[in-house]
Amino acid sequence: MSSQEQDGGQTDRQKYEFRKVIEELEDYRGSGTQLVSIYVPEDTLISDVVAHVTQEHSEASNIKSKETRTNVQDALKSIKDRLRYYDNEPPENGMVLFSGAIDTGGGRSDMITRVLESPPDPIQSFRYHCDSEFLTEPLEGMLADKGLFGLIVLDRREANVGWLKGKRVEPVKSASSLVPGKQRKGGQSAQRFARLRLEAIDNFYQEVAGMANDLFVPERHDLDGILVGGPSPTKDEFLDGDYLHHELQDMVLGKFDVAYTDESGLHDLVDAAEDVLAEHEILQDKQVMEEFFSELHDGKKATYGFDQTRQNLNMGSVEQLLISEDLRKDVATYDCPNGHTEYELLDRNAETPEITCETCGEEVDLEKREDAIEHLMELAGQRGTETVFVSTDFEKGEQLLTAFGGIAGILRYSTGV
Ligand code: ZN
Repeated sequence: MSSQEQDGGQTDRQKYEFRKVIEELEDYRGSGTQLVSIYVPEDTLISDVVAHVTQEHSEASNIKSKETRTNVQDALKSIKDRLRYYDNEPPENGMVLFSGAIDTGGGRSDMITRVLESPPDPIQSFRYHCDSEFLTEPLEGMLADKGLFGLIVLDRREANVGWLKGKRVEPVKSASSLVPGKQRKGGQSAQRFARLRLEAIDNFYQEVAGMANDLFVPERHDLDGILVGGPSPTKDEFLDGDYLHHELQDMVLGKFDVAYTDESGLHDLVDAAEDVLAEHEILQDKQVMEEFFSELHDGKKATYGFDQTRQNLNMGSVEQLLISEDLRKDVATYDCPNGHTEYELLDRNAETPEITCETCGEEVDLEKREDAIEHLMELAGQRGTETVFVSTDFEKGEQLLTAFGGIAGILRYSTGV
């Protein structure tokens, strides 16, 4: 559908690892305004970040509460220590640093520091944030399912076109019209005035369409849809008049009432289209689950559950690995002295059991315990299998988690496993 599918397994895995850290950070609270988050764009010099942190450290001496003051200064010191590991340039796409004393219950706290390098999208601007929670929203936006949408807002005076990339609105081009107002000047015949006005409107719609075509047509194969906004009847006239390139016209997901047609109108358009965009976001998930169920009932190219899916993955027979976004499990790997390997799927907080080898009955040794999704994605990456994270926000997505253990696959060919 969109470009994200071509990114391959490494990016999926990296995103998953990011999401795990973000979920961890989201839950933390500080007893005071003492959790520091710093967003560093790629083109900011580390020395400037260090200078900023030093400045904040000295200003923190004004904080009245001794506990908060000490905690903030400790956090800043920890961040400065981390920054020493870098040359003067941040990694690609920038980095985010989090540090602070988090509540661990019973009046105790624990100092943690996390550094996320090279997020999926570039950090847009430097941000220093000190609060009782970590600032994670900008990163969450990057991890949301990516879509690429074309945006057009227009009335008869002004138009703006731009992109919606993930959650980010990017204005690109604007135009304003020479359409005369409704009041005609003295001496002009009413008929002639009306005709000139209609001509001017038509010219303006053509200009707006030309602007949109130039921007969107070259990207049409990556586009997930086009949203059009404006007051009535402008947007209706524009769409009904088939001004847009016919392929773009077919991609219009909807038209929306938007009061402003300047750059802020592009943001209003995205807000107004919220439901349509939410529906679109789970469209791919819905399609993949439909395919899974149809293979399960009528075909032979479905697999589910940890053991079966793992075996199929290992054979390289899985086309798409389906993982529930809400799967929270670990995998324990055991080695048998006779060369066999055993795997156990475990709840996150369950103890690692002692088991015997299913093949030969020998006692086995725990080799490692790891996140189940990382375990499966690693295998998928080695076998050229695409991983699809499936939302639980629709019925069949919920079923993947509850009825199939959150793990399934669509096979390249039937394997009988
Ligand atoms: Zn064995």
